[in-house]
Amino acid sequence: MSTERVLVVGAGPVGLVVALYLAQHDVPVTVLEAEPELPETLRASTFHPPTLDMLASTGVLQDFLALGLKAPTLQYRERAGCIAEFDFGQIADATAHPYRLQCEQFKLNRLLYEQLSGLPRTEVLFSSEVTEVKEGPGSITAVVANADTTRCFEGLFLVGADGASSNVRKSLGISFEGFTWPERFLVVSTPFPFEDHFSELAPVSYFADPQEWFFLLRVPGLWRVMFPTRQEESNNEVLSDASIEERLQRVLKTNCPYQIRHRTLYPVHQRVAGSYRKGRAFLAGDAAHINNPLGGMGMNGGIHDGYNLAERLVRVLHGAAPESELDGYERQRRPIALEYANAHSTNNKMNLETQDPERQRQFRRDMQETAKDPHKSYDYLLRISMIASLKAAARL
Ligand SMILES: Cc1cc2nc3c(=O)[nH]c(=O)nc-3n(C[C@H](O)[C@H](O)[C@H](O)COP(=O)(O)OP(=O)(O)OC[C@H]3O[C@@H](n4cnc5c(N)ncnc54)[C@H](O)[C@@H]3O)c2cc1C
Repeated sequence: MSTERVLVVGAGPVGLVVALYLAQHDVPVTVLEAEPELPETLRASTFHPPTLDMLASTGVLQDFLALGLKAPTLQYRERAGCIAEFDFGQIADATAHPYRLQCEQFKLNRLLYEQLSGLPRTEVLFSSEVTEVKEGPGSITAVVANADTTRCFEGLFLVGADGASSNVRKSLGISFEGFTWPERFLVVSTPFPFEDHFSELAPVSYFADPQEWFFLLRVPGLWRVMFPTRQEESNNEVLSDASIEERLQRVLKTNCPYQIRHRTLYPVHQRVAGSYRKGRAFLAGDAAHINNPLGGMGMNGGIHDGYNLAERLVRVLHGAAPESELDGYERQRRPIALEYANAHSTNNKMNLETQDPERQRQFRRDMQETAKDPHKSYDYLLRISMIASLKAAARL
């Protein structure tokens, strides 16, 4: 295989975005994906404005927008009503897409994959779990080994976008520092029309509550409801019909049981890789950083990593920049994961769950004052949309 090739490990949103950008800029690319087909697990569903701005160059954005639901506003609420509302229209001068797009991430993956499949010198190989990465002089090798066969793929650079349990990260001996929250999070989706029962409910609404916070995210045809769970509850208990029904009845009492379309229970971490690069290998997306989902910064931040890295690789491979250009990737993206995504998602969680009456009052006051003041709400919207973090990264 040509050593001009870039190897991308993982066909999640981050790996596919990197691969598509490279392929669209005439860089030969091989994507190695462990699963036999694109995974369709229910994970992220919130796409921030700058992520949509980036996707505009891929050729898939119009189809993707058509599959999703535009959320022009976001609310912080408590059970008694709305605490504060923010309107993304306020930052229309900073983005071509002043709203969040609510759509399941696997739908984006499908579109990226279809777009990629038509491009020359590009291949996506399924059932190809990378078990090891080895660097030699002038090239890097991804080893795909199972009980029967060992296949080796050689490239000039390798991007490890193989998710939180990244074999690439482990093979490179890079640490994944941070912690795991004691509680797991439960996401259920239901076609129940919450919008008819909560007054002026925004499509993205976070409900603060000292007993059990939750949030409601609307995607076409469904609401996704996310809850924390108690440590002492077993997985089977949390996922049982009875316990899900009880939780939903605490969100809103109804006469009929809720219809449940999906249920997912998952552990929540705050971790950042000790380094984003080792020699010819890079880490991006969940392989490099994971955080709790409050704020929807995991996949969005991963896609921002992907563009930063892919643009640099293209400049270097086309001879438009020296190899030192690649050092800027870790310099710009790692501090963002530590200082923005980690800090914002942790703060969000603490504010929603706090049992301290003074912190509850402070959170409500801060949100209300921020929403009322046009300068403060503008800055706040730039922060939660991750535009501020991209601007900060560009200065590093
Ligand atoms: C319930 C839930 C809700 C979430 N909501 C949001 C949200 O609203 N907004 C947001 O920004 N983020 C959210 N996230 C996080 C988001 O889903 C992840 O950040 C995102 O999937 C990361 O993309 P990725 O491409 O880095 O990794 P992944 O999506 O994990 O993709 C990795 C790919 O690599 C493959 N793979 C793994 N190991 C190997 C290997 N050794 N060799 C080859 N292939 C391999 C996997 O099969 C997979 O296809 C949520 C997560 C969960 C669980």
